[in-house]
Amino acid sequence: MNYKSTRNNEVKVGSAQAIAQGISEDGGLFVPDSIPAITNEDISALGEMNYRDRASFVFSKFLTDYTEAEIRYCTEGAYNTKNFDSDNIAELAHLFDGTYMLELWHGPTCAFKDMALQILPYLLTTAIKKLGVDKKVVILVATSGDTGKAALEGFKDVEGTEILVFYPQDGVSAMQKKQMTTQEGENVGVCAIKGNFDDAQNGVKAIFTDPEIAKTLSDNGMMFSSANSINWGRLAPQIIYYVSTYAQLVKDGEIALGDKINVVVPTGNFGNILAAYYAKHMGIPVNKLICASNANNVLTDFIRTGVYDRNRPFHTTISPSMDILISSNLERLLYHLTDGNDAQIREWFGSLAKEGRYEVTDDVKKALSEEFYAGFCDDAQTKECIKNIYDQYSYTCDTHTAVAVKVYQDYKAATGDDTKTVIASTASPYKFSGSVLGAIGADTDADEFTLVEKLADVSKIPVPASLASLKDKAVRFDKTVDKTEMKDYVFETLGC
Ligand SMILES: *Cc1c(COP(=O)(O)O)cnc(C)c1O
Repeated sequence: MNYKSTRNNEVKVGSAQAIAQGISEDGGLFVPDSIPAITNEDISALGEMNYRDRASFVFSKFLTDYTEAEIRYCTEGAYNTKNFDSDNIAELAHLFDGTYMLELWHGPTCAFKDMALQILPYLLTTAIKKLGVDKKVVILVATSGDTGKAALEGFKDVEGTEILVFYPQDGVSAMQKKQMTTQEGENVGVCAIKGNFDDAQNGVKAIFTDPEIAKTLSDNGMMFSSANSINWGRLAPQIIYYVSTYAQLVKDGEIALGDKINVVVPTGNFGNILAAYYAKHMGIPVNKLICASNANNVLTDFIRTGVYDRNRPFHTTISPSMDILISSNLERLLYHLTDGNDAQIREWFGSLAKEGRYEVTDDVKKALSEEFYAGFCDDAQTKECIKNIYDQYSYTCDTHTAVAVKVYQDYKAATGDDTKTVIASTASPYKFSGSVLGAIGADTDADEFTLVEKLADVSKIPVPASLASLKDKAVRFDKTVDKTEMKDYVFETLGC
């Protein structure tokens, strides 16, 4: 299997190259040139396997230049009980009739980003070795809160790598900030920027694609790669849990083989829901992909109208990991929906960069409405939803997951569709204790760690050890720079 650039079909690289490089030189994203198929027999067989073996199976379809032994080395190193609090890796909780919460937050940083970022360092260092590259890999990350910490944990002290993370100074939760600024490891750097997530993401993309910066790095024996979901090595691992969940539901007798399910995903950069799209097009029977947004509802409008318009106010919400107006991975979806029309993609994304807006063709609009349903809710509705679920089902969910539940309830009310449904639960409620407690109606006038203890009282969910231990950790990184100074921070930290 080869990977092409969404902006140039002439670019053709293997999966190791795509993962090592992170983004194509033309600014496009790497996409597989075909989507491998999965059969009903495969799904039955997967039902009998553990998560590691399911992961190895899916990777073997996409990472065709990795050997079986290399894939095993990666999946066994990442998906184990040293890193995750359950050998199931992802847990499936039955919420209410025919609705399942796919809990993707049982990893070391308590958000779904761990599902990919625990394995990405293995995939990446294996790729570098395979390609015979003799350079230190510098991972640059823009984060809306969760990716940064998950990437830091994944890459800390990984030989031959260095990781630098940029986060919006006012755009992350207190716990997220504490997680990042106290990060341990000799090869890590964390820096706040004066700006929002889109500024951080644009800054990182600009550094990546600047040939002069690349040359300076190269002269110093280094190269950049990315741990954001623009990297194929982030997306491929996310396809696995949708395949795995379907196989598990069949095995558990919750659905029959071939039955369709809906998949609801709280969405920001469009990575997680795109992974569900790939799983569907591999052959997992999916009825609707339901895209849930917060008040930054650029995707809701896009899916409903075919017009992508980022010229709108940016809202800072209680679901900060979805406070995004430029959803990078939409580029991959549109590449597939246009049958690989790279010229069209260049035009649309050129227009997005220049005018902040583009409108897709009627064919694409039709495909969007067939594949997706989109909805959004604001902070008040998110809180109300957390309270309702808590009162009715004694289930405590985080602010991002609540957005998904609310949009799903709206979908169900609007359509009457009673297809069984999997909702991606993307973070532990402990990452957003203040907002969650406030929603439930508890007093929130306390510091972050007292709030965690209070949440433990009401939720009865064990406090993740990795969050509890932050309390006694010293802040190591307190630098804030202007968004125009990101490059200087990078050179300064790398010493070049
Ligand atoms: C990153 C994140 C999201 C959004 O995921 P995308 O892949 O960017 O769409 C949703 N919820 C949480 C908790 C996250 O960390």
